Amino acid sequence: MTETLHHWAGGAVLKSASDRFGDVTDPATGRVTRRVALASPDEVAAVVDAAVRAFPGWRDTSLTRRTQILFRFRELLNARADELAAIITAEHGKVLSDAAGEVARGQEVVEFACGMPHLLKGSATENASAGIDVHSVRQPLGVVGIISPFNFPAMVPMWFFPIAIAAGNTVVLKPSEKVPSAAQWMAELWREAGLPDGVFNVLHGDGVAVDGLLTHPDVESISFVGSTPIARHVYETGTAHGKRVQALGGAKNHAVVLPDADLDLAADQAVNAGFGSAGERCMAISAVVAVGSAGDPLVEKIRERAEGLRTGDGRRGADMGPLVTRAAQERVSGYIDAGEGAGATLVVDGRTVTPDADGEGFFVGPTLFDHVTPDMSIYTDEIFGPVLSVVRADTYDEAVALINANPYGNGTAIFTNDGGAARRFQNEVQVGMIGINVPVPVPMAYYSFGGWKNSLFGDTHAHGGEGVHFFTRGKVVTTRWVDPAHRGEAGELDLGFPRNG
Ligand code: NAD
Repeated sequence: MTETLHHWAGGAVLKSASDRFGDVTDPATGRVTRRVALASPDEVAAVVDAAVRAFPGWRDTSLTRRTQILFRFRELLNARADELAAIITAEHGKVLSDAAGEVARGQEVVEFACGMPHLLKGSATENASAGIDVHSVRQPLGVVGIISPFNFPAMVPMWFFPIAIAAGNTVVLKPSEKVPSAAQWMAELWREAGLPDGVFNVLHGDGVAVDGLLTHPDVESISFVGSTPIARHVYETGTAHGKRVQALGGAKNHAVVLPDADLDLAADQAVNAGFGSAGERCMAISAVVAVGSAGDPLVEKIRERAEGLRTGDGRRGADMGPLVTRAAQERVSGYIDAGEGAGATLVVDGRTVTPDADGEGFFVGPTLFDHVTPDMSIYTDEIFGPVLSVVRADTYDEAVALINANPYGNGTAIFTNDGGAARRFQNEVQVGMIGINVPVPVPMAYYSFGGWKNSLFGDTHAHGGEGVHFFTRGKVVTTRWVDPAHRGEAGELDLGFPRNG
């Protein structure tokens, strides 16, 4: 009998009474490893209720105590990061070193949130008017919802919950039903760190759970990460229900390679960014725009490197693991068929890969197309697999126009040794995160992560200063204390609006 994963609410397992369950698979072997409960609307209400009950106590817990618990969570995570990485590899498929990197990037946000006492400091003004002082504070929202995608089971939730918790909110995390176990592991780690019951809760489920959170009157905000159509739905529904929403969507990230670039560096980075995590990263490079004479030698260098990659079970030292599900494998193979049919040059074909793995895993090997044109589906669509398309452009202007015409605007990179060209690029390109000779420009935790256009709905990016802003509300207090010399004398009545003085 397969084990079933239930919800986590109020510091304990909340057994699901729902008759809906999802299968969780090991993508490297294709085997079902456990089942996960898919919440009913009643279960959404029960989990949110646990967070509602925990909020007053947590909000009133001193900042010192709150951050001590965060420090303890950090120490525990450092000591046991390998366990979490193994869980990620077993359900997502990415290779162990990549899973460990994901945990490390999430940990950076925990470390940033450990500085919450400093980050929450308001400002004060003495004598703003005669005898009047003004100060500002930021206060937690209440219950906050976090909805995460399959591709980063630990890091994406950690973009949000360390800051939300340190700021005094209580959390309901709805992880992807494809990779649910990391959330449960982190919930138990929080308990070990001393977090009071009900501050961090896990609701398992699919669209029913998401819609339940979006419409629940006690959920104050939604932080969503996933595909663009669902991000748009989350933003529109959440804001229509009066919530603060940040909804990060899909991507189609381009790397421009100018003829003066170090082509070996560009080829290395195109391979890392195109095939790392089997292309299942929102910051993956999926389109390389080779300008002028860079084209032929660059394609040759990428080909050599792509053909040398070992595809297989991420626990066996492979460079690249499987895709997350059988459906994803079939979808990606379908795109390769379509690219070939549309007339792109198939330089490396991942459909024929022989992986180092047991069983029936969901593998597609590194795939490289050349002479891709903007009308082909391998260019227009977010494939979310190990398929790298090279588009040829005659000029820098043509390359930038291509990026700016794209509906997505998550990340982009330029490879060049010309500082002037790089400076122009960062100024002109309509994308949220830019790399200059850096292929996957994921901002550090103390900056904020987010794209433009269809890659983010809402105006607040994740973590950094914007994260603190998102999870708190501002309040400004204007104060007058009567001087002891005043002795209760009658003042002058004036019904006018106060003037300066
Ligand atoms: P997804 O949109 O299928 O799922 C995301 C979340 O939405 C999951 O928790 C899922 O359970 C839920 N969901 C699924 N169907 C729903 C529905 N009909 N109604 C409401 N909620 C629903 O995305 P995914 O396949 O898990 O993740 C991959 C996508 O996420 C890619 O498009 C990728 O670019 C994007 N992503 C973006 C970023 C970013 O920072 N912009 C980061 C990581 C992933």
